[in-house]
Amino acid sequence: MATLTVLIVLAGLWWSWSAQRSDSVAGFLAELPGGLALPDGLLDGALTDPPRRAADGSRLPPAGLEESPTRLLPVVTPSVFGDQYAFVSPSQDALRPYGWSPCRPVHYVVDVTGAPADFQDSVRVAVAEISAATGLLFVDDGAVIEAASPAREPHQPAVYGDRWAPVLIRFTDDVAVPGLAGDTVGQAGGSAMTGPSGLTHYVSGTVYLDVELLALPGLGGVPAYLPVLRHELAHLVGLDHVDDPAQIMFPTTGFVTTFQAGDLTGLSLAGQAECAPDL
Ligand SMILES: [Zn+2]
Repeated sequence: MATLTVLIVLAGLWWSWSAQRSDSVAGFLAELPGGLALPDGLLDGALTDPPRRAADGSRLPPAGLEESPTRLLPVVTPSVFGDQYAFVSPSQDALRPYGWSPCRPVHYVVDVTGAPADFQDSVRVAVAEISAATGLLFVDDGAVIEAASPAREPHQPAVYGDRWAPVLIRFTDDVAVPGLAGDTVGQAGGSAMTGPSGLTHYVSGTVYLDVELLALPGLGGVPAYLPVLRHELAHLVGLDHVDDPAQIMFPTTGFVTTFQAGDLTGLSLAGQAECAPDL
């Protein structure tokens, strides 16, 4: 069986700012999927100028969009525990890594260009698994056409409205994403932002699968890309590689096709970041 490297990359965005206001929320409202509404009180002051900006002057979305005072889904207690897990991030409170705010949804979009016909369904299944393991609520914002880029902007108001860009999940190749050259078959990571409170969270991200996976045989009826998708989604929420080949976070593909005890323990912890009302 081929041994393939699964690479992680983390967009290195470490901005800070002091302004808390927004000049527009209307575009975001138009982008919200059906059934989701902004929390009461969010509009207070949300239409006030000037727009929020990062220290480098780049425009930021309004703070706290969709953020609730408490987490949206309960903390997950893994059905099995293991100590074979690691986090991409440093701990920000010595106990927990930084991660996505569990107090707002994690939005994602899928570009099916070059993907198998059932790709969106597979993504939904794998994302549901990640949600169940982390206690993070994911929202499918549907299909898009967006080229893969190793330096994707986390805020694309002209495309996705004035909010953090949803996570982009798609197949691509090493022309668009050079990190996929050679035996590397996946690349994923979150865009991390530090707010005025000093806490860092992921606010956007990418999950890229190499089209070369589509030429590989599956294992036991599971397409070759699906275990890689699970591995990359775990990177997206903050898990790093481990040395234990029995975990899906082992950096090369093998006979592990889904989350194991260490992975599940790490995913539970990854889903326990603080709320992020200032992002
Ligand atoms: Zn990896």
